Amino acid sequence: MVSTGLTKESPIIIVGAGVFGLSSALHLAKAGYKNITVFDKQPYADNAYSTTDGADAASADFNKVMRMSYGEEIEYQRLAFDGIKTWDAWNKEIQSSRPEDLPRGLKPSDLIWNNCGFLRMSIDGELSPIERATLANLTREGLRQTQFIIGDPEDEKRARSHFRSGEWEKKSDPFGRRRQGKKLVGVFDSTAGFVEASKACTWVMHLCRRSGVRFILSEKEGQVASFIKNKSGKTTGVRTASCTEYQAELVVLAAGGWTPSLFPAVSSLLETTAGSVVYFQLPPKDQAPDLWDKFSPDNFPVFAYGGWSKGHGIGGFPRTEDGIVKIGYRGTKYTNYEDVRDPTTGKTHRISVPKTRYWPQSYDPAITKQAVDAIKEVVKEAMPELTAIGITGCRNCWYIDSLDNGFLVDRVPNDDGMLICSGGSGHGFKFLPILGREVVKIIEDPTAKNTYGKLWQWRTKDASAKNGLEQGETGPRNWKRQIMATKEDWQFRESSKL
Ligand SMILES: Cc1cc2nc3c(=O)[nH]c(=O)nc-3n(C[C@H](O)[C@H](O)[C@H](O)COP(=O)(O)OP(=O)(O)OC[C@H]3O[C@@H](n4cnc5c(N)ncnc54)[C@H](O)[C@@H]3O)c2cc1C
Repeated sequence: MVSTGLTKESPIIIVGAGVFGLSSALHLAKAGYKNITVFDKQPYADNAYSTTDGADAASADFNKVMRMSYGEEIEYQRLAFDGIKTWDAWNKEIQSSRPEDLPRGLKPSDLIWNNCGFLRMSIDGELSPIERATLANLTREGLRQTQFIIGDPEDEKRARSHFRSGEWEKKSDPFGRRRQGKKLVGVFDSTAGFVEASKACTWVMHLCRRSGVRFILSEKEGQVASFIKNKSGKTTGVRTASCTEYQAELVVLAAGGWTPSLFPAVSSLLETTAGSVVYFQLPPKDQAPDLWDKFSPDNFPVFAYGGWSKGHGIGGFPRTEDGIVKIGYRGTKYTNYEDVRDPTTGKTHRISVPKTRYWPQSYDPAITKQAVDAIKEVVKEAMPELTAIGITGCRNCWYIDSLDNGFLVDRVPNDDGMLICSGGSGHGFKFLPILGREVVKIIEDPTAKNTYGKLWQWRTKDASAKNGLEQGETGPRNWKRQIMATKEDWQFRESSKL
């Protein structure tokens, strides 16, 4: 093993308490590192990562999809599958805890991972190549029995003995297509479901604290403003917005969508983009018991309406315990280019940066009309009962996309004091329990390049199309060129005629 110069006592700073920072902190602590400090500019200890209470990062959310279906990308499939064991164990641990032993924002009845199933529905009448690759890879790993091809006689037969009475009919056809005489094509994944994102982060922060990790969480003291370098250019610490300096032998930069603006050199590999999300707040339970029942995770699955790559990239979730149905749009991920001053070199760069509801200033968020129209089209066709409610809220959720949608976990070339841990690319949440295990391996043996070390290493952009990053500011996804939806657009005009 190559010597990294790190000992278990070495001070390690992690910038960012989202999934990438938390999972790294947890696994470093598990591996015996004793001097870990996580900085975040958001006061997560006060708001328990709640998006309704000021938290705003990709990791702070009601729910995220938990799946192990990954097409050709068997490495992610394996990692997701490994992670499920820990999600199950965490659920059990929370449920057997006393309320007073749980952190603020969690109660023993909370399930942070809900195995309600995932319907990957085709909208063009056939299973996509990605779907077929997923089935092939799951078969290869002996997991084919967890997948149910709708309409396949063998799988339908298995489904009827696998699910409770009536459950298969509801979960495999939540939009009632069969009843309406429409074709229903897709695969139901019985291993999948959703994780309660904000609650899961709250839980992992609690586990980290129990293992001795320190957190500095505030706009001044928790916000890293620049990096300290030695004469040879190696990162040796951070300077916060309150001008305090902290020394470290390793700085792990896990700042999600803020990573390129904090460290512009990475913007050739990572780009910050916005995903669009809308909410439908169901009426109170006693006024609409049927809707609460229909959208409950017991009866309604996580769904992808046409897969991620076909149609408009629309997917949604069962209702939350407060009756919120969340639907997301990935058809276009928008960029927001601004002048960014490199905090360390002082040079100015044009970089896509997050503009969240609360950061840099609070504002009433709007999403694009393109996203709202696409979601409305699906809702009208598939969930007409929501049209009378109309969209009741929206959010731009900021991804950090890499050239190839793979993560980036590697030391910066020529600076072994800084490790970038980012590039979640819209699918990182599910790996909260397990990602850090691989991060520790990469930290401890930087040149060995095992499976994930290779997959996530620093890479360069060649001339071909690269996940939209090649478009830059002039591309069609630039936010400044979009028409934003008004609150009037949130309504379904047709519903007034019902
Ligand atoms: C719309 C959307 C849908 C998604 N759906 C799924 C899904 O269904 N399933 C799934 O598995 N994944 C999903 N993801 C991806 C997943 O949410 C991300 O991969 C993951 O949350 C990224 O975590 P992170 O730690 O990299 O970033 P973040 O969660 O953004 O955390 C970064 C942290 O860094 C902090 N920070 C930034 N700048 C500074 C600074 N200067 N000083 C201190 N702290 C700083 C921020 O405050 C923030 O807390 C989705 C993402 C989006 C946007």
